[in-house]
Amino acid sequence: MAEAGGPVFWLGNETLRVPRALFSLNRKRLCDRLRKNSAVQKGSLVLLQGGEESNRYCTDTGVLFRQESFFHWTFGVTEPGCFGAIDVDSGKSTLFVPRLPESHATWMGKIHSREHFKEKYAVDDVQYSDDIAKVLASMTPSVLLTLRGVNTDSGSVSREASFEGISQFKVNNTILHPEIVECRVIKTDMELEVLRYTNKVSSDAHKEVMKAVKVGMKEYELESLFEHYCYSRGGMRHSSYTCICGSLFDMGGEYYCFSSDITCTFPANGKFTPDQKAIYEAVLRSSRAVMNAIKPGVSWPDMHRLADRVHLEELTRIGILTGNVEDMAKVHLGAVFMPHGLGHFLGIDVHDVGGYPEGVERIDEPGLRSLRTARSLEQGMVLTVEPGIYFIDHLLDQALADPAQACFINNHILQRFRGFGGVRIEEDVVVTASGMELLTCVPRTVEEIEAYMADSNKAFAPFPTQKE
Ligand code: MG
Ligand code: MG
Repeated sequence: MAEAGGPVFWLGNETLRVPRALFSLNRKRLCDRLRKNSAVQKGSLVLLQGGEESNRYCTDTGVLFRQESFFHWTFGVTEPGCFGAIDVDSGKSTLFVPRLPESHATWMGKIHSREHFKEKYAVDDVQYSDDIAKVLASMTPSVLLTLRGVNTDSGSVSREASFEGISQFKVNNTILHPEIVECRVIKTDMELEVLRYTNKVSSDAHKEVMKAVKVGMKEYELESLFEHYCYSRGGMRHSSYTCICGSLFDMGGEYYCFSSDITCTFPANGKFTPDQKAIYEAVLRSSRAVMNAIKPGVSWPDMHRLADRVHLEELTRIGILTGNVEDMAKVHLGAVFMPHGLGHFLGIDVHDVGGYPEGVERIDEPGLRSLRTARSLEQGMVLTVEPGIYFIDHLLDQALADPAQACFINNHILQRFRGFGGVRIEEDVVVTASGMELLTCVPRTVEEIEAYMADSNKAFAPFPTQKE
C-alpha cells in the first residue's frame, strides 16, 4: 500500500509498517560498496533471482512460499518468480515480474500491471521476466554480477541468477557475494526497527506460553500457542526456524522475512527446585557477563570463552566440578556442558550470513568450532547471546572416559543431574557505539519467572483442556 512517505509493507491491525525505503537504502548501500571495489568495472549490473514456488514432492500441493533471503534484502518483494537488476553506476533498479496467464485471474484474482509493482516496491522500472534477455541487452551492461557463494553455516551454495539467453552476456559470479554479505552483516536503523518488532512479538508470545503452561501439558500445545500468538497478533505466518520444545523453549517468529531467536527455560509448575535454580542462575550469570562485555572491538570467541569460564566456576560452586578453572579450560571442559557456540548473527536469516568472511578462520577447538562467527564485534551487528548448560549423557560419558577431563568431575554429584535436560537463555542484541541494546524482553531472573508464572497462572486458559 502507498502512504505519505512512500509505500510500506503492512498487514493491518497492530502489525508493523515497514517502509519499502528500507530496500532502496539497501540497494544504495550495495552500489556504494561495489563502486569502491576496484574489480567492479563501469557499466556493471547486479542481477539477482528471487525464490520460486514449489510443491510437496510429486503432488500439486503448494509449499508456503518464503522469499529467498538475498533477494528479500535487496527488493523486499513477496511474490515468487521474480528477478531484480541494479545498475551499479546509477543505482537504477529494475524488477522483473512473471507474466501471469489469464487463468490466474480466475483462480487467484486480478492480474496486476507493471505500474502496480513499480509503485508497490518503489523501484525505477518493472518489466516482465520473459523479456529479461531483451531488456538487459538494451541496457548494454559491461558485465552481469551474479550471486554465487557458500553459506558458512549450511555449506550450501547460493542459487545464481540464470535465464535463457544469459550466454550472450559477460557474467562475473565471484564479486557480488562477499560484498552483499558484508552489507547484510551491519543493520540499518530501518532494519533494526523490524528486528525490535519481531523480538517484541516473540517475547510476548513466550510470555503467553509461560502463562499457559501446566504440568502434564504436551510440548505441541505450547508450540502451537506460541505460533498462534505470533501469527494472530504479529502477522507472523512463518517461524524463523522450527520451534525447539524440550526442557526449554527455543522459538522465534518471523515478520516480512525478518527473524527473532529466543529461548526461555522455566519449570512447568512455576517453581524452581534448588538444583534447577542453581543451573539456571549459572547460565544467567554467563549471559549477563557476556552482555556486560559486548561492545565494538570485542572478539566473539572471547565472549564464548567468557561464558565457558563462568559455567565452569558455577559448576564448581555447585559441586559437579572440582579443581582449578584455568586447568579445566585447558582441557575444554566447558564444551562438555555447552557443545554449541555462544551465539550467531541474526537478521533476515536466523543464522544470518557473514560469520566467516575471507580472513576469518574457524577455531578448531571443542565448543569454539561450533561458533557461527569468529569475528570481532562492530556497531550495527545483531547477534544472539545464548549460553546454555546441558547434561547430555553421550558427552558426559565421553568426558568420564577421558582421564584429562574426568579428574575434574564429581561423578556422585553429577549423577543427580543425569536426565536433567538443560538450560538455555537466549537473547537477541544489537551492538551499539558503546555497548549493546537488548531486543528481547521476557522474565529472566528466577524471581521474575516465579512471580510472573504465579501471577498469571491458572486464570489464563487459551484453549480448554480435558485435564481440568
Ligand atoms: Mg534459538
Ligand atoms: Mg540461536
